[in-house]
Amino acid sequence: MSVSDKFPPASTLLRDDAMPQRVSVLGYPLDLLTNYPAWLASHQGQGFHVVTLNAEMIMQAQKVPQLAQVIRQANFIVPDGSGVVLYLRLYGIQANRQPGIELSESLLKFAATQNPPLRVFFYGSAPGVAAQAAANWQHRFPNLNIVGIYSGYQTSESELELKQHLADCQPDIVFVALGVPRQEYWIAENRYLCPQATWVGVGGSFDIWAGHKVRAPKFFLDNNLEWLYRLYQEPWRWRRMLVLPQFALQGLWHRLRYPRI
Ligand code: UDP
Repeated sequence: MSVSDKFPPASTLLRDDAMPQRVSVLGYPLDLLTNYPAWLASHQGQGFHVVTLNAEMIMQAQKVPQLAQVIRQANFIVPDGSGVVLYLRLYGIQANRQPGIELSESLLKFAATQNPPLRVFFYGSAPGVAAQAAANWQHRFPNLNIVGIYSGYQTSESELELKQHLADCQPDIVFVALGVPRQEYWIAENRYLCPQATWVGVGGSFDIWAGHKVRAPKFFLDNNLEWLYRLYQEPWRWRRMLVLPQFALQGLWHRLRYPRI
């Protein structure tokens, strides 16, 4: 089975009009809600750049002003990583993690079950991967309307064609899998092409949907250890992950210095 077996329960697709509570994590915005997919479903067509925030990204943004700016300009920022959820606990806030891959799976299911189905666009990952991920979803949801599939390795000419296609077909949801921070930059730069769409940077999700990689087992997910499983799967990540203890220390220091969030 290539596409994740863990489908969101139907309740995640109920409409939700509650306003998100915006909080700050070390100066970066984060939107808190009980049901992220439902909220996005309720606000479909209003144009969102969804950033799935984690500790690694925050630490990167501290060093790269362009990334910091893009995160601050995004209009829907969800707590993807355990680090940000644990940080909020220091302030007594019990937030649920919303992994980007699960949010995207809910959006795909939502798209497929609308009448008419919403138009979905896949851009990113190695050649063949987006196509395989899309085919697996299409198999799962025959009504899914996939209007574009492009790998993440385009020449400047073919990227122009891709952008023209985006502008012509005006998808409702655009998944961009170029990794952090490239996908965030690409979305910030190009979302004007489809101003009403929901744009989501999905990192390695296509690799998982295509069956090329597997997600951490439930034990790791439930115990804030997904990072450890990724390290086991992709040991080259160790250098990137050195920032995680730094994030923890900064979080504790921030909590001591600023008792209110
Ligand atoms: N990727 C891409 N074009 C590039 C660089 C990366 O399409 O120029 C893809 C890569 O094939 C992979 C995804 O971006 O599918 C990055 O996945 P990763 O799990 O590393 O994402 P991150 O941890 O950065 O969120």
